[in-house]
Amino acid sequence: MAKLKILKVGDETLRKVCRPVDRITPRIITLLDDMRDTMRAADGVGLAAPQVGVLRRVVVIETPDDGYFELINPKIIAFSGEQTSEEGCLSVPGRWGVTKRPMHVTVRAVNRRGEVFTVNGSGLLAKAFCHELDHLDGKLYIDIAEQMRDS
Ligand code: ZN
Repeated sequence: MAKLKILKVGDETLRKVCRPVDRITPRIITLLDDMRDTMRAADGVGLAAPQVGVLRRVVVIETPDDGYFELINPKIIAFSGEQTSEEGCLSVPGRWGVTKRPMHVTVRAVNRRGEVFTVNGSGLLAKAFCHELDHLDGKLYIDIAEQMRDS
């Protein structure tokens, strides 16, 4: 198990647009494993590769109700509804803010075996999909959040 360093807001890497993964190499597999371990050690719901300094379109997500997801080159292909709730980010430690996100989100992505799959998420999982995929385009939730507060 390898724990990676999580970059914090203010680091320019978090503002870059990530490149797609064109081939799933052993390096990508190791990245997925290390991101999973890092997310769990930090008690997070999701982690995107740029948060650990890698500008690739790779995301891991885990929620208590929905389980664990690995998303390579993810794309939101449908969304509906709306939810307003508090959101946080491992790159913005100790802070929280209220965001508006879709209630239901469908994502298409590739798994570590190179297979394309589609996953539907509602509530927290939908919010996590939006939050983590935003990271891949250099966007942070604090760009859209209101009522920011310290924990
Ligand atoms: Zn985040």
